[in-house]
Amino acid sequence: MTRSTFSKDPIDAELRSEGIHHTGEVAKFIIESNGSFSLIKKESPKPGLSVIPEFDQAFMEELLTQTEKVVCQQCGAKRQNGNETTCADCNKSALWVRAVVLK
Ligand SMILES: [Zn+2]
Repeated sequence: MTRSTFSKDPIDAELRSEGIHHTGEVAKFIIESNGSFSLIKKESPKPGLSVIPEFDQAFMEELLTQTEKVVCQQCGAKRQNGNETTCADCNKSALWVRAVVLK
């Protein structure tokens, strides 16, 4: 099992600072060797994993709508349903949450 050097939270913070609300807006996110980030936005966003902190539920509900699809809370991999117990993309115990889109 591979383990990222970076936890998800600083990446979420970086995405928020770039005006991103969920991972479906991101085409490519690169962690550079010097620790900085490069972001390429998608022209037409897809449903994705919210990067708004869980404590800010009200803000999340104001901006985002849940979709029928689910995403892995660890890596953002998308599925039609949350039947897998282990995410095939990140090999972690899967915690499926509803994918979101901007309202
Ligand atoms: Zn995953």
